[in-house]
This record gives sequence, structure tokens and C-alpha cells, in this order.
Amino acid sequence: MTVPVSVIAIDGPVAAGKTVVGRKLAQQLGFRYLDTGVMYRAITWLSLQREIPAEDEEALGQLARDNPIRLQGQDSDKVLIGGAQVGPELRDPSVDRRVSLVSQVSQVRRALVQQQRALAKEGKIVLVGRDIGTVVLPGADLKIFVTASLEERARRRWRDQLAQRTETNYQQVLEETRSRDELDSHRADSPLKPAEDAWQMSTEGLSVDQVVNLILQRAQELPKA
Ligand code: C5P
Repeated sequence: MTVPVSVIAIDGPVAAGKTVVGRKLAQQLGFRYLDTGVMYRAITWLSLQREIPAEDEEALGQLARDNPIRLQGQDSDKVLIGGAQVGPELRDPSVDRRVSLVSQVSQVRRALVQQQRALAKEGKIVLVGRDIGTVVLPGADLKIFVTASLEERARRRWRDQLAQRTETNYQQVLEETRSRDELDSHRADSPLKPAEDAWQMSTEGLSVDQVVNLILQRAQELPKA
């Protein structure tokens, strides 16, 4: 399918549906797909490996500058960082608990935003994150801000965890989701918020295909650049 857009930004809170929607949209358009959350997770994972405390902003900034993240192929599922290839490790609960703290650090953000802009330069890409439309690429052709209620998002994460592990507890997942929302929305540097010109859509009760189709419709309606 062809659309009159080349750079699509999708932002939104934890488990709003950005990742599955962004990936599918990119596949349908033949675009590359970059989940920027994976980059924050990769730095967080490496900081755990190197035993760098979440409070040591200087060391975390240095870590991010010294270890550029390399994508493997068209998708950001697996990345290379610090000489290691990482994928499923990035979804570990230890990374989940720490990632919103590490992503508050401005030095880390500066290093990663630079890498994200370089990756987006050639266009034909869908980027997914928290600050794509506001900070990383304010000039993106199409900006979407996806949401769903806290309870619905916690239920989605809890179901994912049930599918992967035996030990999980809905109440705990709900509290963790609330706490990550709080940290992501209230941090000083690049807080999670919709860009003024973003199209805000709730994914509550909609299937992935329905959301993707709505976005494609919207993209086709845009005037040619
Ligand atoms: O999207 P995901 O849950 O994988 O993102 C993990 C964390 O990375 C978020 O909770 C947020 O703290 C951080 N993040 C960010 N800016 C982005 C993408 C992710 O701060 N563009």
C-alpha cells in the first residue's frame, strides 16, 4: 500500500498497543520499524550487567554514549549492544522495574535521541515510543497518540506475563503499570504527552487490525507532501 507519508510517529503509555500496531503498520507499508522502548531497555539491561546504580547519571550517560545500539534487520526486536545480541532479556521483570528510572536521565536520552534521528533520516519508517512526536521527530508526517484505560493496559500485560511465566499477579502488574505511567508522565525531560498535532485514539476494545486500518485510512487522507 502507498501512502503520502514517510515518517510515522506513534506514542503512548505502557501497553496502549503501540508496539503491535506499529509493527503491523510498518509491515503493511513496507516501512522499517523502530521500537525506541527497546533502546531504553537495552541501556537498562546493560546497566544491570555492569552493576551501574540507577542513580549514577554520569555513568549511565557514559554507558549510552559508549555503546551505540545496532539494529538487526528491518525490525528492532533484537539489537546488538556492548558486544551482545539481546532480545527476550529486554522484557525481563528486572528491566521492567528499572527502565523508567534510567530513561529519566537526560544524558541517556540525548544519546538515544541522536541515534533515533539518524535511523529515521532515510524515511519510510514507523517509530514507536513516548516522545517521538514531541521531541525526537516533531516534523513527522503523521503523529498518533494511542491510549487505553489503566486497567485494560494492566490486563494486557498480565495476560502476556501469564502466557510467558507462571508467577504473576494482576494487582502487582496494575501497580507497576501505574508507577511507570507516573514516572514517564511526570519526568522533567521529555515527559509522555501527546504532541499538539497528534491524532489521539483509544485502542480500548479494538483489535490490532482495526487500529492499523484506522491509521492507514488517516494516512491516506493526508495531503501529498
Ligand atoms: O515501550 P516500552 O514499555 O518498551 O518502553 C520502556 C520504557 O522506556 C518506558 O516506560 C519509558 O520509560 C522509556 N521510553 C522513553 N522514551 C521512549 C521510549 C521508551 O522514555 N521514546
